[in-house]
Amino acid sequence: MAETMDLGSVSRGFRAMFSMLSPNESSFEKVEDVPPYVQQATPFFVGLMVLELVLGTLKTGGSVVTISDGITSISAGMISRLPTLVMRGCELTAYMYVWDRFRLVELPWDSAWTWWFTFLGVDFCYYWVHRFAHEVSVLWASHQVHHSSEYYNLTTALRQSLTQQFTSWIFYMPLALVAPPAIFAVHIQLNLLYQFWIHTELINDLGPLEWIFNTPKHHRVHHGRNLYCIDKNYGGILIIWDRLFDTFALESDKVIYGLVYPIRTFEILRVQLHYYFYLWRKSKYYKKINNKLSTFFKGPSWKPGKPRLGDHSNNPKVNEGQEVSKSEGIKLKCPQTSVLCCVFTFRPTAAFLEMLRCVIMVAMLRFGYMKPLLPSLSVPTEVRLRIITDPTSVNLCVILHSSTDLFSLRSRYSCV
Ligand SMILES: [Zn+2]
Ligand SMILES: [Zn+2]
Repeated sequence: MAETMDLGSVSRGFRAMFSMLSPNESSFEKVEDVPPYVQQATPFFVGLMVLELVLGTLKTGGSVVTISDGITSISAGMISRLPTLVMRGCELTAYMYVWDRFRLVELPWDSAWTWWFTFLGVDFCYYWVHRFAHEVSVLWASHQVHHSSEYYNLTTALRQSLTQQFTSWIFYMPLALVAPPAIFAVHIQLNLLYQFWIHTELINDLGPLEWIFNTPKHHRVHHGRNLYCIDKNYGGILIIWDRLFDTFALESDKVIYGLVYPIRTFEILRVQLHYYFYLWRKSKYYKKINNKLSTFFKGPSWKPGKPRLGDHSNNPKVNEGQEVSKSEGIKLKCPQTSVLCCVFTFRPTAAFLEMLRCVIMVAMLRFGYMKPLLPSLSVPTEVRLRIITDPTSVNLCVILHSSTDLFSLRSRYSCV
């Protein structure tokens, strides 16, 4: 990452958010040469989130983001990137292993055809990663994190699973038999980045683009818990896969967001892990071994005697007046700006976990796994280090962390 960004790299960074790079400017021979697009996108994440907040407030007269939900989402985003601090992403690591040993042909890395083929291949594989993540309970246990917010805004896009990458790599392996890793490393990042901007209610209909591309309108349906939204619109960049494989649904009734059974918590570890514990308890309930196995490998709504994906007609009914449920308790007790203080008052363990996270962050900084992305942020980072030595300042520490961590995580996602 260049410390001084010229206009060209700002333009490339912005266009990368919408997968609008040309083969010429984003084809590389070696994985080491591939820019860390996701890392470089951090200023655009923040800029677009602020823009959405301002436009949303002007349009609706109220805030489209709540602090409690937004911080939970952003924290999940940071946690999900942790494994990439010490290794390449699981997907790329496995990909390079298969490419090195088992490739059948070697498509030329500098051909536009290879670039477009890999673009389509990654998006096609992502469709199946995503579909399996919804239709197989043990995979849903990781992916449900992304669906656990009852809001729909750009912060929701960052609410990513820590554990999903440990299984998603499997689906990209056929591509590793033919397409060079450096081109895959470009598209796996662009595919992820594209899915950021579609998490908004501010964009309604994009006309003919709705036929081919995954758009805010289509992805809102994917996040809905209305009956017509369940298991629909899995596409990443393109919506054509859903149209082809009969999983497409058009937005109609007002979408009510979140899990069918809301988790009613902002605790980031519980958001990440609660469904694994639920599955374990559910499997123990059954005596027969095939029912135990089906608990993990059939759909989340499966029960004995029901089809593989279960029967959704028994889901709790949703209606427009239902809106958001889980944050009400906190909202009633505290104004938005004091939510963090309340969390620490009612859940003292959160303060301990936050202190632990601070210590880990400091250690990573000292040992060179992190450094401020922008030199101007070294000062707030240092301030943060001093503050965490004083446990009574833990709340302030969290607020500083939440703003500076976004800029300081140095992911080695694809450029080790
Ligand atoms: Zn999903
Ligand atoms: Zn989403």
